[in-house]
Amino acid sequence: MLEALGDNPYFSAGFGLAGIGLGITMLRKGLQGSLVLAKRNLLRTLEVTSKDPSYPWVLQWITEQGSKTQHVTVQTKSIQLANGRFSTEFSYSPCPGRHFIRYKGNWLSVERIREKQMLDLTNGVPFETVTFTAIGKDLKLFENFLYEAKLRAESLNEGKTVIYTSWGTEWRPFGLPRLKRNIKSVILQDGLAEKIMDDIHDFLTNTNWYRTRGIPYRRGYLLYGPPGSGKTSFITAVAGELDYNICILNLSQRGLTDDSLIQSLSTVPHQSIVLLEDIDVAFMKRDAASVAKGFVTGVTFSGLLNALDGVASSEQRLVFMTTNHIDRLDPALIRPGRVDMKCYLGDADANQMVRMFNRFFPDSGELANTFVKNVTSAKKNVSMAALQGYLMCYKNEPEMAVKNANEI
Ligand code: ADP
Repeated sequence: MLEALGDNPYFSAGFGLAGIGLGITMLRKGLQGSLVLAKRNLLRTLEVTSKDPSYPWVLQWITEQGSKTQHVTVQTKSIQLANGRFSTEFSYSPCPGRHFIRYKGNWLSVERIREKQMLDLTNGVPFETVTFTAIGKDLKLFENFLYEAKLRAESLNEGKTVIYTSWGTEWRPFGLPRLKRNIKSVILQDGLAEKIMDDIHDFLTNTNWYRTRGIPYRRGYLLYGPPGSGKTSFITAVAGELDYNICILNLSQRGLTDDSLIQSLSTVPHQSIVLLEDIDVAFMKRDAASVAKGFVTGVTFSGLLNALDGVASSEQRLVFMTTNHIDRLDPALIRPGRVDMKCYLGDADANQMVRMFNRFFPDSGELANTFVKNVTSAKKNVSMAALQGYLMCYKNEPEMAVKNANEI
């Protein structure tokens, strides 16, 4: 029978084909195997996940490798501040997919993968990874560019203040870092800025005093007063002076709960001021109309108090709050321990007017006093913001600024 089959041309052709098929499969398997082996031995890979703090630096670094990455994706951040204002910023990073970068004579394959099925439950953002592949075994190459990316991120922030906003339970930089504001550019009532700065320095240099007494290493400041008196500007300047960043805690954030608030406050980036702006508005928004518009936050007042008390982490913490209406605040929120120093920033007084005038027109001598006389004769309260706006209109004409002062 075997002989008969062997003589059968169809059968031997089929047998031959099967043999060839088997040969090809083995060859393919062999090739795959050697490819895996080669990959393992000849290539090095580095994976950076979106959970790692270096992730934004690395994305920035890839984008900056210039023409090699023409495919970018935009991230738009629009936050609503507690006072209802919207603020929007754009930032770019390389698109998901594969990019090739030449770095120090090496070709790097960079693959950014966005997991569509996997969401980070804390912030609803897809989980991502970036994988770098290069030829060779030495991991130094990766170390080099990670270090470079870190230095680059730091240099971009040098002389600048990074503003973070809470995003789920994470903190994300809001827009590009801003130039530091000089503390002298914010003109407060005589001696007030110095008094606050002295208190902050005293706090920051007394770690052991707090530790040995078991007192939470935290200091709270409340700046209150009419709009345009420089509350936000002063906090920005304090951050610049201390080389700190600012973390704006937005209590109107949708989906924020007491628990996530506690978690946010316990993961505040190193050397940051926590800022709660217009704190009175945050809890007033909960009327029916606001709920319909979606301004719903799951944070309760007692949740906020707990979170503020819980801020007593091992790290020192500076908390600033601002309000235009101190009378609307619950005394529990501003009791010592939560707010240790309350400072009133009012409308411009004579001394502030002179200093502001001199900032615009240095060496203007007696003109500054005449200006004050003209402004105060109108018997109106003038905010520092209004004063600044007015002087901007006459920035090259000090005499006209004095003459028309009743326009303010
Ligand atoms: P607030 O937070 O009290 O409402 P801002 O800090 O937002 O006031 O100030 C609004 C604008 O007015 C800013 O451009 C700021 O430069 C200017 N301004 C307000 N107060 C002062 C001040 N005391 N010194 C210098 N500039 C001021």
